[in-house]
Amino acid sequence: MAKLHLYNTLTHKKEEFEPIKDKTVGLYTCGPTVYNFAHIGNLRTYIFEDILKRSLLYLGYKVKHIENITDVGHLVSDADEGEDKMMKALKREGLKPTVASLLKIAAKYTQAFKDDIKRLNILPPTKWTPATDHIKEMIVLNKEIVKNGYAYETDDGLYFDTAKFPNYGQLANLAQADLLAGARVAVNEKKRHPHDFALWIKAVGENKNHVMVWPSPWGKGFPGWHLECSAMSMKYLGKHFDIHCGGIDHIPVHHTNEIAQNEAAGGQRVVNFWLHSAFLVVDQKRMGKSEGNLLTLQTAVDHGFEPLAYRYLCLQVHYRQTLNFSWEALTAAQNALKNLRQTVAAYDQSKIGCAEYETKFLEAINDDLNMPKALAVLWQLVDDKTLPSGSKKQTLLKFDQVLGLGLSAVKIEKIPAAIKKLAEQRLQARKNQDWEKSDEIRTEIERQGYIVEDTKGSFMVKPKR
Ligand code: AMP
Ligand code: ZN
Repeated sequence: MAKLHLYNTLTHKKEEFEPIKDKTVGLYTCGPTVYNFAHIGNLRTYIFEDILKRSLLYLGYKVKHIENITDVGHLVSDADEGEDKMMKALKREGLKPTVASLLKIAAKYTQAFKDDIKRLNILPPTKWTPATDHIKEMIVLNKEIVKNGYAYETDDGLYFDTAKFPNYGQLANLAQADLLAGARVAVNEKKRHPHDFALWIKAVGENKNHVMVWPSPWGKGFPGWHLECSAMSMKYLGKHFDIHCGGIDHIPVHHTNEIAQNEAAGGQRVVNFWLHSAFLVVDQKRMGKSEGNLLTLQTAVDHGFEPLAYRYLCLQVHYRQTLNFSWEALTAAQNALKNLRQTVAAYDQSKIGCAEYETKFLEAINDDLNMPKALAVLWQLVDDKTLPSGSKKQTLLKFDQVLGLGLSAVKIEKIPAAIKKLAEQRLQARKNQDWEKSDEIRTEIERQGYIVEDTKGSFMVKPKR
C-alpha cells in the first residue's frame, strides 16, 4: 500500500512523507492572533491541522507540536502598516493603553481560543508559545540576518532586503506572489522594494504610543509579525524540522517571509513540508474580518448546533478545497453526526475489527488526508449488513482516533425491555417467514420511538432521530 503522501506547497506536488528523524515528527502550526474571538474560518484551519496530527499519531508517529500565540506585532495590514491588532483591540474594548490591559486582552482571547478548540476535539499542542515570551530569541535571529547582509535599517524599522534573497517567492510561485503582493501590499515609502518586510518596528510615528516595546540594537520597538514563527519554530523544533502549516492566506506573505528569514539566518532549508488549507467561504466570499461575515463557534452553538457538527462539516470537504458554509449544510452535518453516534452507541463491542475497511481508511489518509473518502468508507462500513455490529464498532472507534467526532464518549442509550421483547417477537416472525406480523411489529416499535434494523441473524434497535 502507498505510504503517507502530502501536498507540499513548496514543491507544488504530493510527496511521500518521511520524518527527518526516527519516528518523531516536528510540527509547527501558526496560532491565533489573540485580539478577538476566532471565527469558524480560522477554526477550519485548526481542524485541518488536527486531522494531520491525529493521522500522524494513527500511523504510529510521535508528534512534537508547537503553536504560537501572536500577542504582539501583527499589524492591521500585511504591508507593515497600520496599528498592531492588539492595540486596536484595546481601543475597541475601551481599555487604558497599558501593558496590563494588553495582557488582559491577550489572556481573554487566548482562553476563548483554547475553549473553542477543546469543544472541537482539537488536541492541544505539546507547547503553546506566546510571542511576547520570545523577544530575546527574535532579536538574536535578527542579528544573524543583519550579520549575513539581508537587512537594512530605516528611521522606522529594520527591514528584510528581499532583493538579496533569490529564492524569495518560491513558496507562492513568484509570479503569483507578485500579483498578490501588488494587490495587497501597499508601498511603504521607506522600503526599497514592496516585498521587503519589517523585522523590527521602531516605536516612532504611528507606533510611537505602542504599549509593548523592548530595547534592541535598532532602537526601542517590537518585532515584525513573521519573526516570531521563525524564531520559535527553530527554537523548539530545531534548524531542520518536518511540517509547517497554516491557511492559504499565509502562503504569499507570512510563510514566504518566514522562509526568507530562516534561510537568511541559517543558510539552509529549515522546513521540509509546507501544508496549507483552503478558505471557508460564505456566498463565495472568504470569511474574514474585512468581509464583515464573521461567525464564531459560539454563534453556531447559540443556533442550537453542537460544535462537533462543524467539525463533521469540515471533514466532508478536502482541506485543499474551498468549503462553502451554509446553515443547511451545518444542519445536514449535525443530522449525520447524530445518526452516526446513535448507530455506534447501539452496537456491542468486540475485540476484532474489520480489516478490509481499516485498509481502505488508511488508503484515504495516505492520499493527502482525504477525509471525504474516509467518511465514505465509514458509511460503507455502517451499511454493511454482512458484518457483526461488534466488529463494526471496534473499527469505527479506531477511525474516530483520526476523525475526532467523540464517538466513544457516547453513552449507550438503554433500550426499554418492552421494546427489546417486541424486536425479539419480530425476529421470530421473520424466522417463520410471517412478513405481515414482522411489519406490524416494526410499525409498533417505530410508534414507540425506536427503529429496528436487521443484522446477520439478529437485530439492532436504536432510538429514532
Ligand atoms: P489569524 O488569527 O488571523 O492569524 O488566523 C489564524 C488562522 O486562520 C491562519 O492560519 C489563517 O490562515 C486562517 N484563516 C483565516 N481566515 C480563514 C478562512 N476564511 N478560512 C480558513 N482559514 C482561515
Ligand atoms: Zn506564523
